[in-house]
Amino acid sequence: MNTENSRELYDRALSVLPGGVNSPVRAAIQPYPFFVERGDAGHVIDADGNRYIDWVMGLGPLLLGHDLPQQVESAIQKHASAGPMYGTPTEIEVDLAEFVARHVPSVEKIRFVNSGTEATVSAVRLARGYTGRKKIVVMQGGYHGAQESTLVEGDSSEPKPSSNGVPRSFTDHTIPVPFNDTEAIERVFEEKGDEIAGVLVEPILANKGIVSPVDGYHETLRKLTREHGSLLVFDEVITGFRVGGLACAQGKFDITPDITTFGKIIGGGFPVGAIGGRAEIIESFTPSGDVFQAGTCSGHPVTMAAGLETLTYAAENDVYDHVNELGDALRRGLTDICADQAPEYTVVGTDSLFKVIFTRETPVEAESHCEAGCEQRTDCARYTHCPKTGADVASAEVERWNRLLWPAMRDQGVFLSQNQFEAQFVSVAHTEEDVEKTLEAYKHAL
Ligand SMILES: *Cc1c(COP(=O)(O)O)cnc(C)c1O
Repeated sequence: MNTENSRELYDRALSVLPGGVNSPVRAAIQPYPFFVERGDAGHVIDADGNRYIDWVMGLGPLLLGHDLPQQVESAIQKHASAGPMYGTPTEIEVDLAEFVARHVPSVEKIRFVNSGTEATVSAVRLARGYTGRKKIVVMQGGYHGAQESTLVEGDSSEPKPSSNGVPRSFTDHTIPVPFNDTEAIERVFEEKGDEIAGVLVEPILANKGIVSPVDGYHETLRKLTREHGSLLVFDEVITGFRVGGLACAQGKFDITPDITTFGKIIGGGFPVGAIGGRAEIIESFTPSGDVFQAGTCSGHPVTMAAGLETLTYAAENDVYDHVNELGDALRRGLTDICADQAPEYTVVGTDSLFKVIFTRETPVEAESHCEAGCEQRTDCARYTHCPKTGADVASAEVERWNRLLWPAMRDQGVFLSQNQFEAQFVSVAHTEEDVEKTLEAYKHAL
C-alpha cells in the first residue's frame, strides 16, 4: 500500500502541530496516520488514493456517513451563505432546541455550546451551582473531554490528576469510582453523600472499549442521587441520538437523568455540545440564573442546521433500523469469528456501536453467550470474563490490538478506530457489502 503522500504530509505536520495532529488519538497509528482527502458514503479516500471502509465516522459525529442527504446539504449551504454567524439569536437554534425537547423526555431546556468538553465543563459548574456543593463523582475509565474536573484517576481514597498541568487540588473535588460497582458507589454516598453535587456518567462507557451497564446499575445511581439531593448527569455526547435512537441511551435504559450533555451527532459533523435537562436546573445558567456560561460561537447557525436536518432525516427515514441492523450483523459475525479463532476475546457494543476487546480469559463452556455483543447477561458463560469496568478493558491485550490488528485491517482497506479503547460506528451510508468485507478482513487479521 502506497502512503507516500500521507508520509510527506505528516512530515510537514510534525513541524507545525504538536505530534503532527490536533487531537492525540489521531497520532496513535504507527508510524504515521493516513491523511484523508475526501469521504465517499461509508468510505474514506486517503491522500494517496487508497480507499478504506470507514468505521471511525469522525469518532462518532457522523450518523449519515460522508455523503449528506440533499436536505441536509442544502440546509448547511443555505445557512453558510446567509452569513456564518451574528452574535444575536437565529430561528434555527430554537428549532433544534424544540426538536431535542420533543424527543428526549428529560430535556425541557437546553443550552448549546461548541464541543462535548465545553458541555461537560458547563454541566459540572451547573451541578455545583445548582446544589451549592463541590464534589463530582466520575467513573474510572469514563471520558468527559479534556477538562480539569474530570481528568482525575485513581480511586476514591487516592485520586490523582490524569494529566500533567491539572493541579492536584482538583482531586479534592472529584471522586473516581469503578463503573458497574454498586457497593463502591453506595460507600461513597454513605461517606460523603451530602457533599456530592452530581454523578457524571456515560450511560455506556464508550471511550474505553464499550462497556455496557450491568442490570440495575443506573437505577442505583438514580436512587442514590435522588436520596442525597445530588444530580444525575448523563454524558450522552457519544450515545446521544446513536444508542436508543432519538430517545438516546436514557430512553433505552428508561432512566431520567437531571442533566444530559450532548455533542457529536447533535451537530451533524460540525463542532457542537449541549447541556439539557429539567427547566428549573438549566435556568440556573446566565442570564436566567447565576451560573456563568457563555460562548461567541454557541448556537452557530450552520451547526444548528446540520444537527437539525440530520436528526430530522433520521426521524423521517429508517436510519436507526439500518445502522442497528448492520451493527447487529457485525457483532454477530465477529462473535462467530472469535468463537472459532480467539475465544478469549469479547465482542462488545449495542445499536450501531461495535468493538472486539482483546480480553485474556476463555470461558470453560462457550455455549449460551451473548450473540450480538456483550449485554452483561448474568446467565452468559462469559459473564465473569467480560469487561465490567474501564480497568478491565485497560488490562486487555492492548498492544496486540494496536500493533497487529489495526495495521492488518488497514492493509485490507478497513479503517478501525485508532486504539483498543475508542468505539467504532456504523453510519446509514454503510452497506451489507461493507459488513461482509469487514468480517472477511477480521477473519484474516484475528
Ligand atoms: C467525545 C466525548 C466528549 C468530548 O467531546 P469533544 O467534542 O471531543 O470535546 C465528552 N464526553 C463523551 C462521552 C465523549 O464521547
